[in-house]
Amino acid sequence: MLDTAAHIEPWLPLTATDLKQWAYCKRIVYYQHVMPVEFTRTYKMERGKNVEAAVEAMEKRRGFRRYGLERGERRFGVWVKSERLGLSGKLDLLIVTDDACYPVDFKDTEGGVRRNHRIQLTAYALMTEDNLRRPVPAAFVYLVPSKELIRIEIGDDLRKEVISAIDEIRGFVRSERMPEPTPARARCVGCEFRNYCDDIW
Ligand code: SF4
Repeated sequence: MLDTAAHIEPWLPLTATDLKQWAYCKRIVYYQHVMPVEFTRTYKMERGKNVEAAVEAMEKRRGFRRYGLERGERRFGVWVKSERLGLSGKLDLLIVTDDACYPVDFKDTEGGVRRNHRIQLTAYALMTEDNLRRPVPAAFVYLVPSKELIRIEIGDDLRKEVISAIDEIRGFVRSERMPEPTPARARCVGCEFRNYCDDIW
C-alpha cells in the first residue's frame, strides 16, 4: 500500500476540480490522489490565470442584465467549502442577490460547455448553498474565446450526479482500484499523465 495522505485519511477531502476531472477522465483523479505522481504545469493551465484576471477587469464594468438579473453583488475569487460533503473550491465569481446566488466560471475553451463543466458548476452550487444558506437555481459559464455567457440550470439530476461521483471517487481511492481510462482517447494525446497509462497505447 502506498503511504500517501489519501490512504491514512478516512475522509478524503475533494475539490470541485476533482469532480470536473472525474467526469473528464477518472484516472486523472486517481493519479492525483493515490499515486505519488509529479506532473508539470502546462501552458494552458498558466494561461488560465492570465485570462481570469482579464475577464475579471472586464466583468467589473458590466451590468447584470445579461445574467437576467436586475441587480446583485459581485464577489470575485470566492472560496467555498462544504463540511457535509468534504468538498472545497474557488469560484471565479459569485453573484449574490437578495434571495439567491449564482456561481460564474470563466472558461478559456473552444467547443462550448461540456458535461464536466456542468458537474464542476454544480459542485460549486452545492457548496455555495451550504456556505451562504441561499438557493442556487443556476450557474453561468463565460466562454472567453467566443464571449458567450451560458446559463446552466442546477437541477436534481446534476446534484445527484455530483453526490454519487463524490462517493465513487472515495470508493476508488480507498480500495486503490485503478479506474478505466476515458473512452474518449483523443483526450489522452495532450494529457499530463499519459506516461502512466501505458496500457492504452
Ligand atoms: S492518458 Fe488518457 S486515460 Fe490516462 S489519465 Fe490521461 S486522459 Fe486519462
